[in-house]
Amino acid sequence: MPTPPHAIGFTLDPLDRVSEKRDDDTFVASLRDDPSTRFLLFVNNVPLFKRADGHDPLFSRHEAAAHGAPLQTVFLGRDADERALFASSFDDNPESLREVEAIELRPIAMQGLVPPPLVSALGEARSMLDWHRRHRFCANCGQPTDSAGAGWRRICPNCKAQHFPRVDPVVIMLVTDGERCLLGRQPQFVPGMYSALAGFIEPGETFEHAVYREVLEEAGIRCTDVRYYASQPWPFPSSLMIGCFARAATTELTVDKNELEDARWFTRREVAAMLDGTHEQELSAPKPFAIAHHLLKAFATGELD
Ligand SMILES: [Zn+2]
Repeated sequence: MPTPPHAIGFTLDPLDRVSEKRDDDTFVASLRDDPSTRFLLFVNNVPLFKRADGHDPLFSRHEAAAHGAPLQTVFLGRDADERALFASSFDDNPESLREVEAIELRPIAMQGLVPPPLVSALGEARSMLDWHRRHRFCANCGQPTDSAGAGWRRICPNCKAQHFPRVDPVVIMLVTDGERCLLGRQPQFVPGMYSALAGFIEPGETFEHAVYREVLEEAGIRCTDVRYYASQPWPFPSSLMIGCFARAATTELTVDKNELEDARWFTRREVAAMLDGTHEQELSAPKPFAIAHHLLKAFATGELD
């Protein structure tokens, strides 16, 4: 199996999460008040950047305070220089947003506008803040819950249930048949783009079973020999992409048009042209920040063989 490249977006975790000290309130408060500490700020799941300094998302405690009281704060961890990083979400406040620029994380990651380790930290922050935003009530009894453990769990004061941030596993698989591979396109993809098939893992499934089921459901293809390649945190809102290769055992396609606009076999040469932007019909592949790009590339370059 080829070695996964570091260019896969959101995979360069720069932080020591110090998870064993999240319940130590004195420790967490001392980091929060340290002048060297920096804050990633979000409004409605969108990160804020300083207007004056390119795409700098690191705010001091003093700069963060200009946005008022945060809705939620999460301790993300400490970087290699022992500098602590927190993430805070705020209400939409046009007054305090004058000095900053709000830019969605997806284009930031896709265009490489901030260094890869910071993209990973922004992804971690986005997933955590979005989880708090959508889990304010106890799933057990319906009462409002409180944040605890430096933002890494929520506790219900009524029934005492504890709720932990969730990660949804997704399999993304490139099915190959010798010199060709199976790609599909969802209706919401940019025109001309094809990618590896993907789907959520269901309760009770291994990721191998999820690969067999999804490929059969979406394309009518039976596959075998599922091999794990690499994984990628995907913070929209909080998935873990599990990248796999599989071999086709049958080749006649029956495309599920509810799921896919199209699916077909592509030759190795065609995939190489899609990756470097020279395809005759201007078909394209996902960009390098997505794990699908690297699955396709490993196939196109023959690394898999
Ligand atoms: Zn409860």
